[in-house]
Amino acid sequence: MNSSSFSTLSLPPALLATLDHLGYEHMTPVQQQALPIILSGRDLIARSRTGSGKTAAFGIGLLTPLNPAFFGCQALVLCPTRELAGQTATALRTLARGLSNIKIITLCGGTPFGPQAASLEQGAHVIVGTPGRIKDHLDRGTLTLDDLNCLVLDEADRMLDMGFLEPISEIINKTPQRRQTLLFSATYPPGIEALAGRFMRDPETVTIEDANPANPIVQRFYEVQPQDRLQAVLRLLAQDRPQPCIAFCHTRQQCQELQQILSSNGVSAQALHGDMEQRERDQVLALFANQSCSVLVATDVAARGIDIEGVAAVINVELSPDPAVHTHRIGRSGRAGQSGLALSLVAPAEQGRARSIENNIGEPLAWHSLDKLPERLDRPLLPPMRTVAVAGGRKDKLRPGDLLGALTGEAGLPADAIGKISISDFQALVAIRWDLAKTALERLEEGKIKGRRFKVRLF
Ligand code: AMP
Repeated sequence: MNSSSFSTLSLPPALLATLDHLGYEHMTPVQQQALPIILSGRDLIARSRTGSGKTAAFGIGLLTPLNPAFFGCQALVLCPTRELAGQTATALRTLARGLSNIKIITLCGGTPFGPQAASLEQGAHVIVGTPGRIKDHLDRGTLTLDDLNCLVLDEADRMLDMGFLEPISEIINKTPQRRQTLLFSATYPPGIEALAGRFMRDPETVTIEDANPANPIVQRFYEVQPQDRLQAVLRLLAQDRPQPCIAFCHTRQQCQELQQILSSNGVSAQALHGDMEQRERDQVLALFANQSCSVLVATDVAARGIDIEGVAAVINVELSPDPAVHTHRIGRSGRAGQSGLALSLVAPAEQGRARSIENNIGEPLAWHSLDKLPERLDRPLLPPMRTVAVAGGRKDKLRPGDLLGALTGEAGLPADAIGKISISDFQALVAIRWDLAKTALERLEEGKIKGRRFKVRLF
C-alpha cells in the first residue's frame, strides 16, 4: 500500500469504493497534506488552486463524519459564484454516491427563494451556496446552522474580492463555536489572514506550490510602447492563434478600442465591461460560452464572479498593479487538463508591476520580443460556432428540444452541427457550426418552430 493511497486513511468503505470507481488511485498533493489534518478535526488553511483536487479534499473530509440519520445541516460550503457552487455540489454528490441517503442542496441567488425554503424544510446534511443567499435564508429563519460541524470557505480570496466579507462574517457568527473551519484560497492577501485570525482556531497551514505540475501556465512577457499596445495584441494572436481567449484591459475605453481593432482585423471579439446593461453582458457571456466568440475583451470588474475557465490563453493587455489580480487572471487559463498560456504586454512605466509579479512567483520572468512575431493575422480568427438568435423565449414556452427539433427536423440540419442552446425570457440563442449557420438562419426564416413563425437573426 502506497502512502499516497486513500486506503491509508480511515475512510468509510463505501467512500473508498467510490474513489476507486472514480479512478482516483493516488491522492493529489493537497489531499495528501490536507486530509489527515481535516480528518483529525483541526482547522485548516490550504493554499491551492482549482485543479489541485481541493474539492475532493474537503469533500471527503466533510462527508466522512456525517450522520445520515440526522437531517440538520452538518456541513456548509461557501463559494464565490453560483457556477462554482453548482460544480462543487455536483462533485460532492458524486463522492457521496455510495453513502446512504445523504442530501446535498445548493442555495444561490438568481433562483426563486420559495422552493429553496421548501427544500430546507425537508432537511439537508450538506449545503453549498453563495454567501448572499445563505445569509438571506438565515435572516428569514428558513435555515439554522446550530448543528454545523464543518464550514468550508472555498476560493476565499475570490469571495473577499467580490465584497463578501460582511455576509461571510454574519454567517459565521450564526454557527457554533465548536465547528471546524476549512479555508481554501489560491492567494493569501492580508484580508485572508484577518479572516482566519477572526474566525479560525489555531489553524494548520498547507501550501501547494505547483497545483498542476502536469499543466503549468506558461507565462510570456513582452515589452511594448504604450501607443503600440493594442496592435501588439494582434501580433500575439497571430503567433499562437489561441482560442477561446480572454484579453484583460484596464479601462472600459481600452476594452472598446481593442474590440474594434480586433473586429476590423478579422478576429471574432466581444467586449465585456461594467458599463454594459446586464442583458448585454449576459448575451456576450452566452456567445463566449457557446463558442461563438474567439476573444473576450474584458475588464477585471466585469470578469469578476463569472466562471470562465479553461481558456486557451489569457492576454494581459496591461499588467494589473496587483499581483494577486494577475494570478486570478492567468488562473482562468489552463484548467481542466488543458495547458495554459498567459501573454502579458508591459509598457516601460509598468516595469514595477512586472517586478511585483516576479517576486510573487519567485523566479525570473520570461521576456520575449514582439518584433519576432508576425505583424498581423494571415487569415481571420473565427470561432467554431455562430449564434442564431430567435426572438422567442421562455415566455413563448420555447424549450431547447423545440429548437433542436425545428433545426434537425424540417430544416434538415445534422444534430452534431448544433451546439449549446440557451433560452432567456424573450430570446433563444442557438450555436450552430459556423459553415451551416447561414443555412440554419434561412431555414428558420422560412419555417416554423412549434407551429409558429419567429424572427431570427445571426450574430
Ligand atoms: P478541483 O481542484 O477540486 O477542481 O479538482 C480537479 C479535478 O481533479 C476534478 O476533475 C477531480 O475530479 C479530479 N481529482 C480530484 N482528486 C483526484 C485524485 N485523487 N485522482 C484523480 N483525479 C482527481
